[in-house]
Amino acid sequence: MKDANSIHTINMNQANTSIALASVASNRELLPSEDQILKFWQRVKKSDECWEWQGYRDKSGYGRTQIGNWRVNPHLVMAHRLSFAINIQQPGSFLVLHKCDNRCCVNPDHLFLGDQQENIRDMDMKQRRASADGERAGSAKMTNEKVLEARKLYADGGLTITGLAIKYGLSKHCMGKVLRRKSWKHV
Ligand SMILES: [Zn+2]
Repeated sequence: MKDANSIHTINMNQANTSIALASVASNRELLPSEDQILKFWQRVKKSDECWEWQGYRDKSGYGRTQIGNWRVNPHLVMAHRLSFAINIQQPGSFLVLHKCDNRCCVNPDHLFLGDQQENIRDMDMKQRRASADGERAGSAKMTNEKVLEARKLYADGGLTITGLAIKYGLSKHCMGKVLRRKSWKHV
């Protein structure tokens, strides 16, 4: 296990190899210069919802930016942690988590402090959500287009659930879920 602080000593080229450290909190204070804060905001696209980081992102989708003196002690830090430090407080040894599930988001309203335990619970919940979606594994043959088409056919009375299940190669159970929006809710 690498030292948690080593996250600060990596440079851009090494960033990809440090993904495992992405969720590791660091005790080090995030102290950007005024110039770095200015540059930070230049790379944020604000909206009513998420404020997405337009700069470099690591493989996990977290925004990364450099603070510190680039000659002496450059630190590559996570953009959302830096946003939290600038706007709310130094996160210290706590993790900064996303309420919005959008890893490149730096909107302070979407961020909260959590401990490692919370992070695990958070990941757990997301995994559970993912596996709930996985129930539609049987309906993986579907596409957004087909889902819309199937719902329309059903609503118009063109085909029954059984008919649609045969048409799309799903079980009746899966087809029913698609039609009742128990799966493919996003469509
Ligand atoms: Zn957000």
